[in-house]
Amino acid sequence: MEIDVQMILDWMKKTNEKMQENKSYLTSLDQPIGDGDHGINMARGFQEVENKVTKESYATPSDVLKDIAMTLMSKVGGASGPLFGTAFLKLSTAVKGSETVSYESFVNGIEQAVTGVKQRGKAEAGEKTMIDVWFPISEALRENEAFSADVLVDTAKQAMENTKEMLATKGRAAYFKEKSQGHIDPGSASSFYLFEALSEVLKERA
Ligand code: ADP
Ligand code: MG
Repeated sequence: MEIDVQMILDWMKKTNEKMQENKSYLTSLDQPIGDGDHGINMARGFQEVENKVTKESYATPSDVLKDIAMTLMSKVGGASGPLFGTAFLKLSTAVKGSETVSYESFVNGIEQAVTGVKQRGKAEAGEKTMIDVWFPISEALRENEAFSADVLVDTAKQAMENTKEMLATKGRAAYFKEKSQGHIDPGSASSFYLFEALSEVLKERA
């Protein structure tokens, strides 16, 4: 299976639905270790993405991924907008030039996204940020040879849960020092919804 434009549109529709449904939950995660706006940021950002991508028509996955990136960067306040935007921009660049994205190209794109988020956030894995979902996903993808809906959702879920005991050393949560432990990282939870949505799209197409 390869990823086409329609799958990316379906991915964004499902992601937006999950962000709207879990808006209060995401915000509640950001209250004890942040400023309580993550649900608002994600719900607004992915609604704007949905509004944008449903009005345009796209020749390639790279084109739609670029619009997703630009929308998240420009419409989301907070650290998460530029970081998610960077991830989609790197993915867009990595898969440029073809009408469908092969598994290999997608894996490379996610690895580029991880590199981009690390650079932009000046963070590494293990610092209790969204990288702690994106990096394990990139590793799991690399270990496999074809799209697997189960691998995606299981890896993302476990990775999100693993952030609970981590000590935050980047982003607003870092101000809470030891008190950041015992709470799931909000950006890791929203990243989980994003990969869960992709997993559902893959399952529907399988
Ligand atoms: P803000 O922190 O500006 O209020 P959000 O609440 O929307 O923005 O997003 C917070 C999330 O962004 C965190 O849970 C974390 O996953 C991610 N994040 C914050 N800072 C960084 C960073 N430097 N590198 C990577 N991810 C980060
Ligand atoms: Mg916040």
